[in-house]
Amino acid sequence: MASDHPPENALVTGASRGIGASIARRLARDGFRVWINYRSNADAAEKVLAEIREAGGDGILLPFDVGSAEETEAALKPALEAEGPLTVLVNNAGVTADNLLPRISDEAWERVISTHLTGAFRITRAVIRGMIRARGGRIVNIASVTGEMGNAGQSSYAAAKAGLIGFTRALAREYGSRNILVNTVSPGFIDTDMTAGLPTDALAQQIPLKRTGRPEEVSGVVSFLCSEDASYVTGQVIGVNGGLHTG
Ligand code: NAP
Repeated sequence: MASDHPPENALVTGASRGIGASIARRLARDGFRVWINYRSNADAAEKVLAEIREAGGDGILLPFDVGSAEETEAALKPALEAEGPLTVLVNNAGVTADNLLPRISDEAWERVISTHLTGAFRITRAVIRGMIRARGGRIVNIASVTGEMGNAGQSSYAAAKAGLIGFTRALAREYGSRNILVNTVSPGFIDTDMTAGLPTDALAQQIPLKRTGRPEEVSGVVSFLCSEDASYVTGQVIGVNGGLHTG
């Protein structure tokens, strides 16, 4: 969507590492001015912004904990006032706190739900007004194959991600008439810090493509969903999972 006019803004949450960093780099390459959100890893976020600038793009750093109402408002409100509305929002920030159900504390449950689901709700609520006024926008929520299939030991994560899929579908219906397109990208096993401890060789055997994915294979799909080519795609769950799940 960003082309010959001044760069349009794209916020990517959790963009200091992994899939989010790859999305930030890719959207910058596509011409967006990228707002790089992260929680605590400033060095990694600065590196992503430096790489974007070296490649001829631009952006800003926007640290805040997406699970905190206060931090979200304190960061997002002034950024929207100073930098203008967002054309693209990618709700990507995520954490896991895997455990069997009897061992999940209220705190761990709340942390997972608030990071993935409540965070996406608050941020989307804050930016949607600007998209309505602009008569258009793209929202991409990063869910997970776990939210579609379930996975033992990941009930909090699966609940958060399944919630995100429902949130996406409802918003696609609510804002279709305003030309705001809302989709979910649902990755399978992707090589990032989040999956670093997993036995990837054994996991690969369950995947039709016989390998785990790369962050760039997710960010390419997000780029498509934020492009003119995706102008008739909304309310969808796009799996990027090597064929692991085909629902
Ligand atoms: P990752 O490498 O662990 O990176 C997580 C990112 O999220 C970091 O930038 C981190 O910031 C940020 N973050 C975490 N909690 C945050 C918070 N409360 N507020 C703001 N930022 C926060 O994870 P990833 O593998 O790239 O995962 C990205 C998304 O894809 C997540 O939603 C994840 O659930 C989903 N996903 C991943 C896989 C996979 O196989 N990797 C599969 C399916 C879905 P700091 O650097 O500051 O900590």
